[in-house]
Amino acid sequence: MQPNLEKVKIDPKKEEFKLRISGVELGKHSFSIDCDNRFFELAEIPDLQEGLVKLQIEMEVFEKMITLDFHFDGFVMLPCDRCLEPVRIDLDFDEHLVVKLVPLLEETQEEEDMWIVNENEYELDVFHYVYEAITLALPIRIIHPDDENGNSTCNPEILKKLEELTNPVPKEDEIDPRWEALKKIKKS
Ligand SMILES: [Zn+2]
Repeated sequence: MQPNLEKVKIDPKKEEFKLRISGVELGKHSFSIDCDNRFFELAEIPDLQEGLVKLQIEMEVFEKMITLDFHFDGFVMLPCDRCLEPVRIDLDFDEHLVVKLVPLLEETQEEEDMWIVNENEYELDVFHYVYEAITLALPIRIIHPDDENGNSTCNPEILKKLEELTNPVPKEDEIDPRWEALKKIKKS
C-alpha cells in the first residue's frame, strides 16, 4: 500500500493561516488572508464549496500574551433549504482571541476565545479557528429571500416539481386494480 502523499503534503493555503510568533517584535502586526474556494475545499464545511471571505487579522504581541482581532468580510454560497439552488450569504463579523504564553506547557489548550500556548511555540495555526468562526456565523436556515413584493425568489421550476412530488395529482380515470378485483369477488 502506498501512503496517501496527497494528504500529508503541505498546502500553501493552509500555510497562510500559520502566524509566526517566535522572534516577532512586540507591538502590532497585520495579516490579510483570503478564505477562497481553495480554503473551503480544505475546510470541508458541509455543502459549502464556494465563497470569498476577506480575513483581516490584527495581532498585538505583548511579553506574555498575544491578542488577535479577526475581521471577516465577504460571502459564501450554500444550497437553499427550499429549492436547493445556491443562495449567497453575506458575512461581516468580528472575533477576538487572547493567547497566553506560558513556560513548560506540553500541549496547547484551546478554549473558545482563549488559548494557552507554550512560550517557545514557533507559530499559531488559526486555520481551524477561522473555519469554526465561519461555520458558527452561518444562519441556521438557508433560504432565498423574498422580493420587494413578498414573493419567494426560489427557483420556480424546482418549487413546482417539489410540489408535485409531495402532493401528487390523482388521475381520475385510473381505477385502482384492487377495487376491480374486489368487485369481481363480490359478484361471484
Ligand atoms: Zn430557494
